[in-house]
Amino acid sequence: MSKKGRKGIQFIFLALFGLLIWKGNMGIWLGILGVSVVMSLFFGRFYCGYICPMSPVMTWAEKLSRKIGLQRKGLPNILEKDFLPWLVLTLMVGAVLIGKRAFGINIPVLLILVGLSAMFTLVYNQELFHRYLCPYSGFLKLAGGRAGKSKKVDAQFCNGCRSCMAVCPSGSISIRPETKRAVIDAAHCHQCTECAEICPKDAITYRKAG
Ligand code: SF4
Ligand code: SF4
Repeated sequence: MSKKGRKGIQFIFLALFGLLIWKGNMGIWLGILGVSVVMSLFFGRFYCGYICPMSPVMTWAEKLSRKIGLQRKGLPNILEKDFLPWLVLTLMVGAVLIGKRAFGINIPVLLILVGLSAMFTLVYNQELFHRYLCPYSGFLKLAGGRAGKSKKVDAQFCNGCRSCMAVCPSGSISIRPETKRAVIDAAHCHQCTECAEICPKDAITYRKAG
């Protein structure tokens, strides 16, 4: 799919997210998320690349941050912990339950998350939120890592130029030291196609895992 097509789909889901927030019907959104997690077992984490409202918001925040010189290089070591998404998920569920039962209010956690994702991305690369702070990334990582199909690098075409690494929003690409060729970690890949579009060797395709 073209970049324009993907951006169009992201915009439609962002509008749907806004509408559901406005109507106070976030159960539908959680349903979309649940179905997407299950489908990630077959097609990879397309939710992150096409559906998640935080992804386009973070892309805009990152662009703005680079423009005004706020963006820092690298990620803070203290936050690079794999248990963090689970901790954020626990805090989020806890806040919803306490808000409802103790105070009789619906805390708009999903909207708060969108705001937080933008705030973090104004300072750090969006990889930080995608990998370590998003409360859904624990489930999505488990499903994405077992996906039947995902983006893959064909080592016989790759020249190790790293162009794909520079555009990957989730930090899913690394260079294998033994071969000096790129490899994609399906557990974190959003299936967004940014890497395939920039690769000068057309070495990246979407195909069966294994
Ligand atoms: S952009 Fe293409 S050729 Fe360059 S490292 Fe990535 S996969 Fe290899
Ligand atoms: S590896 Fe490619 S498809 Fe996957 S998230 Fe990175 S840029 Fe997108």
